[in-house]
Amino acid sequence: MTSFEVMAHCQKYNFAPVSAHKFLANGPNPMTLTIVDHPLVQHKLSLMRDKTTPTNQFRQLLREISHLIAYEVTRDLPLELSDIETPMRSMQAPVLAGKKLALVSILRAGNGLLDGVLELIPSARVGFVGLYRDEKTLQPVQYYFKVPDDLQNRVVIAVDPMLATGNSSVAAIDLLKQAGARNVKFLCLLAAPEGIARMQEAHPDVDITTAAVDECLSDIGYILPGLGDAGDRMFGTK
Ligand code: URA
Repeated sequence: MTSFEVMAHCQKYNFAPVSAHKFLANGPNPMTLTIVDHPLVQHKLSLMRDKTTPTNQFRQLLREISHLIAYEVTRDLPLELSDIETPMRSMQAPVLAGKKLALVSILRAGNGLLDGVLELIPSARVGFVGLYRDEKTLQPVQYYFKVPDDLQNRVVIAVDPMLATGNSSVAAIDLLKQAGARNVKFLCLLAAPEGIARMQEAHPDVDITTAAVDECLSDIGYILPGLGDAGDRMFGTK
């Protein structure tokens, strides 16, 4: 999809472009949608979309791409100055301010993104939300929930490669907020306009970072053109 088409989509769903790749939803509590349009990300994503890409390569690409999109989702983390000694002299050097992070994987496909992001932020605490999608109703059904107990003090980054209908992501973030999370960001690989709209309606305070916004959903709730079932592609279960 060209950036012009992305902008057309975003206008349809009431998002206005902020910069080359940032879009801001209109309304009293605007959500930011960031599309990571870096050529490396787009190239790796195209390889992942290709149905002939084998499982091991798909997983490796997801790991690499998750490093690149993690840069973007952590871009506004606050820094503070720390006194250090280089081999040459003392200086005040920027380090991440004490803001604590939690990464929450929405199972099972979230784990593919989680691994890569965790390599970049190894000190983050990790939680898991287990939701599966009822294939008839497309509604999420919870089967697992385990998160750090001080979510209210953390920046929480929820990760799931596919923002499709938005039902699972919205339900996962509902649970995170019920558990105390106040500052939640959502990181995905592919988003459908329908999923973005659903998230914006339910959680306008949650900014979304994605590698691409695709065209639409299929009649069984898959992203088109998409990359198929991310969990199956990742774990070779189909
Ligand atoms: N989940 C997936 O894995 N793929 C889709 O296209 C939609 C939801």
